[in-house]
Amino acid sequence: MLPPIRLVSEAADLAAHRHNGMARKGRGNEPYINHLAEVANLLATATDGADAELVAAGWLHDTIEDTDTTREELAQRFSERIASLVAECTDDMSLPKAKRRQKQIEDAPHKSPGAKLIKIADKISNIGTRIHTDPTTEERDDLADYSDWATQVVAGCRGGNAWLDTKFDDAVKTARALL
Ligand code: ZN
Repeated sequence: MLPPIRLVSEAADLAAHRHNGMARKGRGNEPYINHLAEVANLLATATDGADAELVAAGWLHDTIEDTDTTREELAQRFSERIASLVAECTDDMSLPKAKRRQKQIEDAPHKSPGAKLIKIADKISNIGTRIHTDPTTEERDDLADYSDWATQVVAGCRGGNAWLDTKFDDAVKTARALL
């Protein structure tokens, strides 16, 4: 396997290329890579840099779902654990959105400890991007809807990292204050 810093920088590089030109939902047309950097950084901070594979998986967590990257490619370029973590965070996009959401709630408690941390970091980032000053009605509804669902998913993921759990609770508190 690559040395830890190379693992993380190769993952960031591949994610940047694969998600090139994609934007996040919501205001400001923020580049998608910002979301990946945020998730990876939350994971690095939560584990105090002790788990390079987890941080690399944070960079890559949306590559199978949103790009033509495959699990096999990730296993080959990075490691079996990284490929497996990303696969665990990949929704079956052939299912309708409501089904995918329900499945996330049901599957969360059965994920590996690392995948649970990625899911929490992902939800923190996705709530954060929905928090705006002077929200429109539509933005407020979306924030309420997303926060409620994310809380149900994270209920099945918590307990592995106290710092990340608190960070999620803080994000929901900030969101609720706007509703
Ligand atoms: Zn994500």
